[in-house]
Amino acid sequence: MHYPETIQNLINNFTNLPGIGGKTAERLVFYLLKNLDENFLNNFSDNLNKIKKQIKICPTCGNYESNNECNICHDHKRDKSLMCVVAEVQDIYYLDKTHSFNAVYHVLGGLLEAAEGITPDKLNIRNLLERAENNQPREIILGFNPTVEGESTIIYLKKILRDKFPKIKITRLSRGLPMGGDLEYADEITLSSAIKNRSEV
Ligand SMILES: [Zn+2]
Repeated sequence: MHYPETIQNLINNFTNLPGIGGKTAERLVFYLLKNLDENFLNNFSDNLNKIKKQIKICPTCGNYESNNECNICHDHKRDKSLMCVVAEVQDIYYLDKTHSFNAVYHVLGGLLEAAEGITPDKLNIRNLLERAENNQPREIILGFNPTVEGESTIIYLKKILRDKFPKIKITRLSRGLPMGGDLEYADEITLSSAIKNRSEV
């Protein structure tokens, strides 16, 4: 037997999300139908509608923002001479909630992965070089996942940053992070110590 079309469509929507298989998607849809009132459902669908329309990309660093410049770039108490380069927007949140430093960020939009066609021109590197040129930070921290892609990106960026900006200190998170893992899964104490014990590359 088939589910009514509307139910099946919503199940399909959920299975497109990361980490949600068919069974979980079914459970979520039936939970929504049985347990949640109309106010919740209206609010939920409103928020889904707004997420693409109202969330913008900060033109300076690539963070998500509802206005123009993001709240980190806009914060005058941030140390603009300390710039942390990350692969994805979420990495800003993982690193920033450790309160281990008061840096500004730069989102690359991924890590180098030649086999997947992610070459340097696909990443937000040009803008990073422009920011380094204009702001001349004292240190650039390469805050990537401890994976093969993270290591390749560190090697690549180290070379071009070294050549162009020999005076800027280039550092990486300490090797205390479990190899092959994601910043997402590291606890705050481990992340905080990886930031504090960063080393020059
Ligand atoms: Zn920003």
